Amino acid sequence: MEEQFAAAFSPFRVKNLTLKNRIVMSPIGTGYATSCGEVTPRLISYHRERAAGGVGLSIVEFALVESRTKLDPHQLSISDDAHIPGLTALVQAVHEAGGKIALQIAHGGRRARSSVNGGRRPWGPSPIPALGGDVPYEMNQSQIEYMEDCFLQAARRAKQAGFDAVEIHNAHGYLIHQFLSPLSNQRADKYGGTLENRARFALEVLARVREAVGDEFPILCRISGDEFIEGGASLAEMKLVTELLEKGGADVIDVSVGALESTERTIPPQAFEHGCNIGLAAEIKRSVNIPVIGVGRIKTLQEADTLLRDKKVDLVAMGRALLADPELLQKARNGGNIRPCIACNQGCIGRLNSGVAITCLVNARVGREYQLRSLGKATAPKKIAVIGGGPGGMEFARVASSRGHKVTLFEKEKELGGRFRVAAIAPKKSEINEFIDYLSRSLRELGVEIKTGITIKAEDLANLKDYDEIVIAAGGDPVHLPVADAQANVAVAEDVLQNKIPLGSKIVVVGGGMVGCETADWIAQNGKQVVIVEQLAQVANDVEVRTRKMLLARLESHNVEIICNAKAESFGKDKIVCSQLGVQFEIEGVDNIVLALGYRANGVMPQTPSAKVHRIGDCVEPRKAIAAIHEGFLLGTRL
Ligand code: SF4
Repeated sequence: MEEQFAAAFSPFRVKNLTLKNRIVMSPIGTGYATSCGEVTPRLISYHRERAAGGVGLSIVEFALVESRTKLDPHQLSISDDAHIPGLTALVQAVHEAGGKIALQIAHGGRRARSSVNGGRRPWGPSPIPALGGDVPYEMNQSQIEYMEDCFLQAARRAKQAGFDAVEIHNAHGYLIHQFLSPLSNQRADKYGGTLENRARFALEVLARVREAVGDEFPILCRISGDEFIEGGASLAEMKLVTELLEKGGADVIDVSVGALESTERTIPPQAFEHGCNIGLAAEIKRSVNIPVIGVGRIKTLQEADTLLRDKKVDLVAMGRALLADPELLQKARNGGNIRPCIACNQGCIGRLNSGVAITCLVNARVGREYQLRSLGKATAPKKIAVIGGGPGGMEFARVASSRGHKVTLFEKEKELGGRFRVAAIAPKKSEINEFIDYLSRSLRELGVEIKTGITIKAEDLANLKDYDEIVIAAGGDPVHLPVADAQANVAVAEDVLQNKIPLGSKIVVVGGGMVGCETADWIAQNGKQVVIVEQLAQVANDVEVRTRKMLLARLESHNVEIICNAKAESFGKDKIVCSQLGVQFEIEGVDNIVLALGYRANGVMPQTPSAKVHRIGDCVEPRKAIAAIHEGFLLGTRL
């Protein structure tokens, strides 16, 4: 009988590199390097854990080939020989864990930020700034040659550090891509104009890198199969570029997509299908004779194996799925409980975009691997009560019981998941349920006693005296406004999402944050006329940028009316009175008013302070689910 996932677990060889399987860890930016771009124990442990999980090839993130050209404050660098020892330690750790490792060498070009580079203005092919960026200097011939030499030196260092391959970053709107794209390259010399001219820099870099590493060392070239911006480099052009790269000596083509203005395609939120970019990789594979890597929201080994079996691509890169569960491969093979990525982008790229090192909403270990090599058993197992079966309480119960504690979890609803399960009702959010299901399975497997349909109030805490520790994870309650008119038809968003409230045909949602906009999206999808009233100048400010872009596009497509800088002042039977910048107005013919005004901490408190009572998540202070989950995880490791 053929082994399950035989295609994924088949070996792969290119030049002097042999991989044990065809799963590649994507070069996700982490923000784990020092401010000088050096490797840290944190970066090493992060990669070691994924190599130990069985990934065939780990591609290490964007390493700068030239100093003072950072995009992020803690960007990895290979711009100096001084970086070699740290990179060598990283390579050794991955090799010891049984994996192979490549380094992505890159330059941000016009996307380098003067604010994190001592005021240095970036360079680019033409003086056209990236979105929100500085106007770059147009590189002259000697600067182009200098930059090509930077790539050569970086490749030499990578080989010296022991890497098994290098990947040249020709994608995502960084320097080489800027030369490829007609949007950022408007040069009149031999590097601009025709496609052959725009590809010249990429080919010269490739030739210099080959010069540095020799014939038998694999060179991967990452490209964007389509820029997905009007007037940008299209699939048809990129097929030709790929053919040129093949002729120029590339060994593998790694097909990603997008540029700065289309990062929702590069790191797709839930609004996109699984494997949404594979069609482009498959097209490119048809035009070359060298292996192709496909990437883009490939979440399960089953999906990867199918793509490989169907010969759409030769290798599959997985990124966020391996952040969520570094043991994904082993678990898929052996039938383990896999922690799913929910494509929220909140813990990973969302944080990196804010200048903070990545973690993962569903896996609080990400970025903490160096501190928590293993969770370790509790020295004195305890009896612990958890009040609240939302994601924070469940995560605490999972970690604490895996360490040997005897945990009982009380949940007031019939189902576990808390508000996170309600959030999953909104359009393009259903994968949240997969994480709740993962936690539920974990608790069952670990023997956590689950008591649903039981409300524990502050006065009931005294009845839990048999427990050594009590963890309160009771969440928050939706904020209500006092409604003077008894006839006003007012409800909170979570009751609406749960279909507890019959809706008329015209609905006003008060509050245009994430919950308000997602509720409006859900209502509008059901064919209703929806108006959002928001106090701030913009709606969905608290939504991760890629997810927000897709959410706003859906609201627009459903003709949801958005009124910003406006405050709801009073509600009537079929109207709402608002004021906008001091001017009062009414919205009439309103059937339902839906409040999405945030949450207040739930009032389950110990009546007397006690060292054995702990609180996590929204009952401390209402925040996003990631805070509750991570607090649950951390408390679980401590008790
Ligand atoms: Fe996936 Fe969200 Fe974790 Fe990122 S933070 S890896 S998108 S679950």
